[in-house]
Amino acid sequence: MFFSSGESEKKGKEVIKNLYYFSENQMLDCNQYIIKDSNSDKLALFDTGNGISLNGLFKGMEKFNLEYQNITKVFLTHEHVDHVLGLYPLFKALKNGPPEIYAYGETAKILEAGKKAQICPDILGINLDLFGIEIFPLNVKNLVNSKEIKLFSEFTFQVYYTPGHSLGSICYYDSNKKILIPGDLVFTGGSFGRYDFPGGSLSTLITSIKNVNNLDVKYLLPGHMGISDQGNQQIALSYRMIQSISSFY
Ligand SMILES: [Zn+2]
Repeated sequence: MFFSSGESEKKGKEVIKNLYYFSENQMLDCNQYIIKDSNSDKLALFDTGNGISLNGLFKGMEKFNLEYQNITKVFLTHEHVDHVLGLYPLFKALKNGPPEIYAYGETAKILEAGKKAQICPDILGINLDLFGIEIFPLNVKNLVNSKEIKLFSEFTFQVYYTPGHSLGSICYYDSNKKILIPGDLVFTGGSFGRYDFPGGSLSTLITSIKNVNNLDVKYLLPGHMGISDQGNQQIALSYRMIQSISSFY
């Protein structure tokens, strides 16, 4: 059923100047974020969705005069299928050449190897063939040694390694603009990422949430559900929730 909705437009919102949010609009998809270079119209994309939703993203971008052919950089939060599968059709759709792809540690390794079983673990119970997307090895820039990412002229992100949901999970944090892009570490409304996938761990997830709880965050831009401009409050809520759950173990 949800496969047929793939073409539908992703709803967008300009969060702050030159930073856009496109919300997930089907099962097994993710929120996506775009940063625009005010000087050149170049675009950076955070997470690629499930691939089927890619045309919906492109349509949503049109409303904001964002031309998808200008995507030159892709930043990934982690290695899961709903965040990375869009890489492959995107790679083919960009006529000016492939984008630079950035990921951390295990995520970079998995994408470089092009291993289907790790991108879509059996536990998800999803037959990747249904997506009709071919996975192939990609050149990926590993962020393991990157302290800082300068994105065009206005944004500077630091990379925080935040495992617990997956081995390759990171957060992107801009301390000047107080933006956190946490992938599936924390969500709004007190939610947090699952820790029962391969490489996941509840205690590690708690430590990672504790670490980002110390950051000064206004804009919380997670991989699923809504966004918030009360970032610190939301992260603190997730931290309290996960602590209360862990006390049952
Ligand atoms: Zn995930």
